[in-house]
Amino acid sequence: MAVQTEIKTYLNYINGTWVAPVGEKFEPSVNPANRNDIVGYVPRSMLEDLNAAVAAAKQAQKLWWKRSGVERGEYLYKAAHILEQRLQDIAETMTREMGKTLAESKAETMRGVHILRYYAGEGARKIGDVIPSSDSEGLLFTTRVPLGVVGVISPWNFPVAIPIWKMAPALVYGNTVVLKPASETAVTAAKVIECFHEAGFPKGVVNMVCGSGSVIGQGIANHPDIDGVTFTGSNTVGKQVGRAAFERGAKYQLEMGGKNPVIVAKDADLDLAVEGTISGGLRSTGQKCTATSRVFIEREVYELFKEKLLERVKQLKIGNGIDADTWMGPCASESQLNTVLSYIEKGKAEGAKLIYGGNRCTEGELANGFYVEPTIFEDVELHMTIAREEIFGPVLALIQVESVEEAIELANDTEYGLSASIYTKNIGNILEFIKDIEAGLVKVNAETAGVEYQAPFGGMKQSSSHSREQGQAAIEFFTTIKTVFVKA
Ligand code: NAP
Ligand code: MG
Repeated sequence: MAVQTEIKTYLNYINGTWVAPVGEKFEPSVNPANRNDIVGYVPRSMLEDLNAAVAAAKQAQKLWWKRSGVERGEYLYKAAHILEQRLQDIAETMTREMGKTLAESKAETMRGVHILRYYAGEGARKIGDVIPSSDSEGLLFTTRVPLGVVGVISPWNFPVAIPIWKMAPALVYGNTVVLKPASETAVTAAKVIECFHEAGFPKGVVNMVCGSGSVIGQGIANHPDIDGVTFTGSNTVGKQVGRAAFERGAKYQLEMGGKNPVIVAKDADLDLAVEGTISGGLRSTGQKCTATSRVFIEREVYELFKEKLLERVKQLKIGNGIDADTWMGPCASESQLNTVLSYIEKGKAEGAKLIYGGNRCTEGELANGFYVEPTIFEDVELHMTIAREEIFGPVLALIQVESVEEAIELANDTEYGLSASIYTKNIGNILEFIKDIEAGLVKVNAETAGVEYQAPFGGMKQSSSHSREQGQAAIEFFTTIKTVFVKA
């Protein structure tokens, strides 16, 4: 093991300056591909730090809102430019901090650049409508105003794209922001915030406070001066955040888990379906909210699909995400690895048949990291834990069905409703699926994972608080409508 000579300590970003947390406590951020590699030390902040950030954001908001949308957009263009210049470094940091492959980290960072540019342009687009008034001398129209201070709570699985897809619309519509990134990926977050700092945003417009979810995350949900809370993460935490925000009358938005199905019809292009199942279920080590988790296959093609799937999964190269030939990296943390392994044990104990993988990887250098084999179960029944709970790991459950209709019914038998896909050439199947599947993101002949920043994104049922993020839909959360009547 190489000796680490210089490990950097990262600070909070409050009122335009990098500051140490009150009490000066820091914790290591660890590389999940090699537990001996510390990526950096990140703040373990206290409520005093959060209070300082919120006060700065509140103070800055009035002047920020006085600027035009076009002017605010200019700052986002600058941040996009800086992020693009740092793409390589930020992508390498992301891979080192949470394990996804470098190719994925680069693509995600580039997505961050595109999101910033998209919302920069949004500063010049319409924010209201003129509505005919019943008074012929009156002018009736709507306009939009920001919420004020927005608290952003983000997860570790998309440490660049998610904070940016929340912060960029918040800022362009005139809000100021306090970000609490996932502890697991706070170094990556700090590098993103450096781009905002160097873009020259006025002091207090963007702030970041790192620390535990129960102190800083919950602190954001409870804070009387935070007017809107946007959260992405698990259902348990999301509900807590939503409840706290609701109690004090703040606006909130929750994007949470999934248990996403893919349906393989008997007329499907099976090679395409296998590719989509592998990519949707196992890429990023299954740690996407839109990851494929349950696979419903029509009986006539079940054996052939399974054979092709097993053939393909054997070829996946597991390793450190920084190596160019790696297809699948480690789980993002030791606790994530343990969660995945315990779900695999439950699958076996409840009678599902393990047909591939199922173990921690311990060969050579993999022993130092939090690696697990891609894992496939068959004979999975819907009451089993692995068919009901979000695993957030590279685990697929195969379920045989008699028809597409049955597949849709079983696919809907879950509390979640984030994304879903079907592989078929039959237009009847396609239309039935689009109409009846209970998911906010519906894909046909394409994998369940993957979203486009210019389109609305969010879930049905318990996957979300029923709002939408990204695209023009973001305006609904980050602004409030004012209806105006004017008479001369
Ligand atoms: P998580 O444990 O819920 O954490 C999410 C964020 O909430 C982190 O910043 C975390 O801080 C913070 N947090 C933890 N406890 C808190 C509390 N009591 N009050 C307020 N905040 C608290 O989720 P995760 O493990 O990071 O991410 C995985 C989950 O995110 C999965 O369920 C996945 O499906 C979901 N996800 C959803 C979407 C979507 O758009 N629907 C996208 C990506 C991921 P710490 O890091 O300090 O604990
Ligand atoms: Mg880590």
